[in-house]
Amino acid sequence: MTSELRDLYQELILDHSRNPRNSGQLQTVTGEAKGNNPLCGDRVTVYVELEDGKIVDTAFEARGCAISIASASMMTEHLKGLTVEQAQKAHEEFSNHLTKSEPPDLPLESELAALMGVRNFPTRIKCATLPWHTLIAALKGGDEITTE
Ligand code: ZN
Repeated sequence: MTSELRDLYQELILDHSRNPRNSGQLQTVTGEAKGNNPLCGDRVTVYVELEDGKIVDTAFEARGCAISIASASMMTEHLKGLTVEQAQKAHEEFSNHLTKSEPPDLPLESELAALMGVRNFPTRIKCATLPWHTLIAALKGGDEITTE
């Protein structure tokens, strides 16, 4: 990766952590879940509004490090309009890219790619995946999850 691209990615992460998109609550909530990453102290609540199996709206509230907030912000932007199945697939793809020693060849086609630098910092991977784990719990109707 060129250093220019790395800088660009860093800017994106900073921008999302300072000005999180979709931060707050939803008026109509069909599922919500809380996530907790004790390793770093990140806490996130994810809200979803589902209609006919589609995510029509989503929001989150988070307290934690820049990575976890940026990841939640990027995730909510990515999710709107996706079906539950597509969202689950996106989660799978995202965590495969972050956690597999041999990441898939295909790059992620979105801003989510900006978070791939976290691969080099194993202790921060859970910060990036926490919002996604919480989302999956919210899509199933709600729960409280803790990363292990
Ligand atoms: Zn964190």
